[in-house]
Amino acid sequence: MSRTRTAIVVGGGIAGPVAALALRRAGIEATVHESHTGTADGIGGGLGVAPNGRAALGLVGLDRIGAPMNAIVLQNHKGRVIAEIRQPMQFSWRSDLYRRLYDLAREHDVQVHHGHRLVDVRESGTGIRAVFADGTTSEEADVLIGADGLRSTVRRLIDPAAPRPRYSGLLGFGARVDGAGLLLTGDRMYMAFGRRAFFGYQTFDDGTGVWFANLPHPYLTWKEVGQTSNEEWLRRLGEAFAQDSVPALDLLRRTRPEELITTGPMEDVPHVPQWHRGRMVLVGDSAHATSPSSGQGVSLAAESAVELARALRDLPHPEAFAAYEGCRRARVERVIAQAARTNSGKAAGPVGRVVRDALLPLFARLATPEKSAWQYDHRIRWDDPVAA
Ligand SMILES: Cc1cc2nc3c(=O)[nH]c(=O)nc-3n(C[C@H](O)[C@H](O)[C@H](O)COP(=O)(O)OP(=O)(O)OC[C@H]3O[C@@H](n4cnc5c(N)ncnc54)[C@H](O)[C@@H]3O)c2cc1C
Repeated sequence: MSRTRTAIVVGGGIAGPVAALALRRAGIEATVHESHTGTADGIGGGLGVAPNGRAALGLVGLDRIGAPMNAIVLQNHKGRVIAEIRQPMQFSWRSDLYRRLYDLAREHDVQVHHGHRLVDVRESGTGIRAVFADGTTSEEADVLIGADGLRSTVRRLIDPAAPRPRYSGLLGFGARVDGAGLLLTGDRMYMAFGRRAFFGYQTFDDGTGVWFANLPHPYLTWKEVGQTSNEEWLRRLGEAFAQDSVPALDLLRRTRPEELITTGPMEDVPHVPQWHRGRMVLVGDSAHATSPSSGQGVSLAAESAVELARALRDLPHPEAFAAYEGCRRARVERVIAQAARTNSGKAAGPVGRVVRDALLPLFARLATPEKSAWQYDHRIRWDDPVAA
């Protein structure tokens, strides 16, 4: 079996451009095919980028991301601080990170085609082609990488019985606000367990701020969330935080309806049994979607994209896919499981709330840098050869 020379990358979100850049570094030519007709500028809310993710993004040439978020201060519904967890994260708007990666990919001559929604593939003895919704096909390549997110089509093409996303019971909302007159948080993200919903906020040196809310709610698709007006969602969020002594109401009041960002249902996929088949392989949320509560979605996607490129640099694709899965699966599934436990605390009922508030200070004391080193200190050794 010969070395991989060309790759089709399906999905131009975060994992897609990182994979294309890392493949280029590995000497493999990659072309990105994105379903949306335009770019994703200005779309999405805020994200955490962890040191492990920053290191992976650094390997494809991206440095200086976002603003420092060096601690999480946890509050209860009365505004009392119940724990402070040190963690060396960066906060970034998803659209800023996306634009930086997009520009970097273009600078490195990665072709990004928009309006190419993959619906099928054609595999032959010599290669694979992507088939798009408009009936056109891509050029043939050696491998096809599914970086097509939570509702991946490539995942379904690899395994029609692949599991569907699992709903956490929470809908996500947020906004960028003018920080004038707000309590300055410094490099800390404040997160409050309200009586009925979860709230987070941080202000930055440039005079702006961000808030987000996780609202327990029966499942709604992203589209269904959009069928209720932003005014109404702001009203419902105000109602959810009305009994709490946290700055939620002030921040909601500062948010004009057109500024509200709805991030939709918070979902994950705890276990994707098959990450690859034939010439197809998954990377990012298509393989290991974690709910936003992990603060690791982008970071794990970047790590996986770089590790996949490294494996394809050194091994023929069947062995490369197996080596890649072998070094990634346990790590990503551990992060997904941890985030799912966090989500259950956010949606706790009255009894669960009392238990959670009593136990959190203890958990915070146990959350030492040594305990979280497996997540944050992970570094990819790009130059080391990958063994089958
Ligand atoms: C527009 C957008 C906004 C987001 N905002 C947030 C946010 O505010 N907070 C947060 O925590 N996470 C957000 N996410 C998710 C977050 O980016 C991912 O969880 C994480 O970065 C992993 O990246 P990914 O590249 O694997 O998946 P994604 O970032 O979801 O990217 C997948 C890409 O594949 C494309 N795609 C999907 N199906 C096909 C297909 N059949 N053919 C071709 N292309 C396809 C999508 O349009 C998308 O651009 C957002 C995702 C998107 C797409």
